[in-house]
Amino acid sequence: MKRADDPYETAPRVTRLLLPAYIFLLAGCLSTRNFPAPTPGSLPLAEPSAKFASTVEMRYLGSAGYLFRRGDHALITGPHYTNPHWLRVGLWRIQPDTALIDWLHPQLSASAVEAILVGHAHYDHLLDVPYIARKHHPQATVYGNPTAINLTLAAEPSLAGRVVSLDDEVSRDGAVGEWQYVSDGRIRFMALAAEHGPHAFKVHVMKGQVTEVPRKLPRSAWRWKEGETLTYLIDFMGEDRQTVDFRIYYADATTPGKVGLPPELDSADRHRIDLAILCVGSAHALKGYPETFMDNYNPRAVVLGHWENFFRSPVEGVFRMRTTHLNEFIAIVEERLAADARWILPRPGSTYHLDIEPAPTAAVGSAD
Ligand SMILES: [Zn+2]
Repeated sequence: MKRADDPYETAPRVTRLLLPAYIFLLAGCLSTRNFPAPTPGSLPLAEPSAKFASTVEMRYLGSAGYLFRRGDHALITGPHYTNPHWLRVGLWRIQPDTALIDWLHPQLSASAVEAILVGHAHYDHLLDVPYIARKHHPQATVYGNPTAINLTLAAEPSLAGRVVSLDDEVSRDGAVGEWQYVSDGRIRFMALAAEHGPHAFKVHVMKGQVTEVPRKLPRSAWRWKEGETLTYLIDFMGEDRQTVDFRIYYADATTPGKVGLPPELDSADRHRIDLAILCVGSAHALKGYPETFMDNYNPRAVVLGHWENFFRSPVEGVFRMRTTHLNEFIAIVEERLAADARWILPRPGSTYHLDIEPAPTAAVGSAD
């Protein structure tokens, strides 16, 4: 890919001048401590065993990062541990904290992870990804919007050949997109075109694109432009590679209305969403979120993600972002959950096991 000196779309000057004040309001002194520090990811995950035939394992990595695993196959979404202080984000420079990443990121066999999905290119979803892909997952491909891929290649040029820029394959305007198959066909996913909702106080920052691979990796958080926000449908497939065993809907940002929600699929591809990853951060700033999702889908479980303060290092503990309206979000979800469903507020570093629903057995015989 071609490199460029200044491929950034820039924000108006007045917006840039007000940004540090905004970040201070968002995070400067606005968090409460609720939980102890996360478990070091270097503690090994359980060995894959027979029980994985009937469960999917989820580890919350913090921010909008997740590890999903079944047996020997795993997929990761937007891992982020560095959590630069708000002063660095607002006024100074950011870079991945590689020692912290090595301490917190789960240790997996080199071949376990074949895909790292990125929803959008803001630093809290992408900053740590290039290092993690190179150091921890040497066989993984990074999937994301063109901006995310350009920034990834600026950070780690050695990843050329291990990136996929999702554009034509994306589901748009209700049309079904292209499934991407990994892990010997046991995992597939489809990217869905979405829009990033506003941040706190209804202000939407860090918009725009990076249209080519920059010559230098941006040091300012404001240059980690969002690109087109994507959500994902992620399927763990049965042994036949055709039956969906477990479906995940993943959103790393709030999305307005029906934008970014799963399209109508062919009957062979239909499956209830087993696990919906939603975004709590700034949800109150977007009317109808997450009601529209909850009213149109019937998930078996809902994960309330991206709720903690990502301006504080995880080693200090886990802090709630006080600007999030957690209780309101929980009330909306609870009111709309099916009787057999549940919600999860995950703590970074925690692991959950989710049952795969057995396929309904065909009716045998009839009294008539
Ligand atoms: Zn974002």
